[in-house]
Amino acid sequence: MKREDVLRSTPYPMLIGGREVASVSGKTFATYDPSNGRKLADVCEAGPEDVDRAVAAAYDAFHGPWRDVLPKDRSRMLMKLARLLESKVEAMSWLECYDAGKPIAASRAWLNGAPGTLEYYAGILLGLAGETLDVSDRTLFDYTVREPLGVCGLIVPWNFPLSIALLKMAPALAAGNCVVVKPSEVTPLSTVELGTLVAEAGFPPGVVNIVNGPGDPVGMALVRDPRVAKISFTGGTVTGKKIFREAASTVKRLTLELGGKSASLVFADADLGKAVGVAYNDMVRNSGQVCGACTRLLLHESIADAFIEALAAKLRPLRIGLPDDPATEMGPLVSPVQLARVTDYLEIGRNEGANIESYSDPRSRPELAGGCYIAPTLIRGATNAMRVAREEIFGPVLTVIRFGSEEEAVRIANDSSYGLAACVFTSDASRAMRMTRSLSAGTVCVNTGVRSSVDAPFGGFRESGLGKERGKEALLDDTQIKNVRYGLA
Ligand code: NAD
Repeated sequence: MKREDVLRSTPYPMLIGGREVASVSGKTFATYDPSNGRKLADVCEAGPEDVDRAVAAAYDAFHGPWRDVLPKDRSRMLMKLARLLESKVEAMSWLECYDAGKPIAASRAWLNGAPGTLEYYAGILLGLAGETLDVSDRTLFDYTVREPLGVCGLIVPWNFPLSIALLKMAPALAAGNCVVVKPSEVTPLSTVELGTLVAEAGFPPGVVNIVNGPGDPVGMALVRDPRVAKISFTGGTVTGKKIFREAASTVKRLTLELGGKSASLVFADADLGKAVGVAYNDMVRNSGQVCGACTRLLLHESIADAFIEALAAKLRPLRIGLPDDPATEMGPLVSPVQLARVTDYLEIGRNEGANIESYSDPRSRPELAGGCYIAPTLIRGATNAMRVAREEIFGPVLTVIRFGSEEEAVRIANDSSYGLAACVFTSDASRAMRMTRSLSAGTVCVNTGVRSSVDAPFGGFRESGLGKERGKEALLDDTQIKNVRYGLA
């Protein structure tokens, strides 16, 4: 689909109290196409009064009729929203292709799975229940109920805009909460379009609200608002820490999905073809802008050279190109800011004494001029002490570190302030089991890459976050337990 077929010519509105609205101030901001740097669309920018209106609408809806909507009816609404979204997946895929620079084939593949997020929570919400407790006092009948929290503020990053918005909205709504969603100001368009479907799906006005604008002040206003019971945030660790501090003043519930510097451990007895394929994917998928990608590649010294050679051979013919070309395998980074960040890290690595090896030269191609393109790059000869091994780069870049023994590999992998995920490649089942116990990360994968799915919990250890997204854990995290003690005599 062409840009003009999927883009609005008027500013993208906000959704407040069931109505598409402009901001009170009339202010707008622009989004840009990262493949050419040209302006794509204008978006209404929330001010404090708009956030206030959105939270008030959610608060009133929660304390109004939404509270009494039966679980089966919430489930039906989520299923209806899934069906409506399904009919829009093609248009949404093109929107994210232009807004986030995602190659259209990949964009479509990701968003084809998006209705499934709504379906999963529509299903499991029907099993939400408390329990009866056999307490030691026989004059009491004691039970628990799981109640919704109230208003949830959902703050979303730019790397998978609609998918992550849905991973937050679906469990929050399934649990009976009302939501105020704040998409990333870099990629808000698909989430605004999702907002046009919620009324038709049956959600009463105010249950879903969407406000646009920069993290501070718009996201921060949600964090500070005492009427907001929970913040679910996905984004950088630095931002996550600010939110953590600010949320303390109102003791808000938090789910924080933050950064990563995950390690992939490849042993000499591994299926190298498979391990090379996963490393390739970690570089190329979404141009490496994936939190769970294993960006520290730990190679046993006996296979390191052969591994790098095989990976380089796969990377050289990689089709880097315009996102709207169906043959493109890797597109640009999301923004000039992200391009500058990744480029800076390559310079940092060089200054730290590592070898920087890039496998193509997209900047020499005139048709890509003006876009945020960067070549897939390996940082070789690195040690785990270097900044390029400790800090998240978030681009098509892997830092390669060699190891000699299993103990050394585990020590390096766990020596990180992050703990999002880890991968092990080995044909020795006993070693694999030892690794799953020793590696300190929220997800550990054996002989496969980090592939999250809606039905399994995902969330990091240490500075990679708090709580879990996905799985039944996300639904439970969006509820609170009330204990009822009923005196019998
Ligand atoms: P970011 O932290 O800059 O922004 C994320 C969101 O937070 C945006 O909507 C932004 O507007 C908002 N925000 C920024 N400052 C804020 C503030 N002070 N108060 C409230 N909200 C604020 O992150 P990003 O650059 O959009 O996304 C990339 C980061 O997201 C990477 O670090 C990546 O690892 C992380 N990420 C993590 C996961 C995960 O599941 N752990 C998934 C995807 C992305």
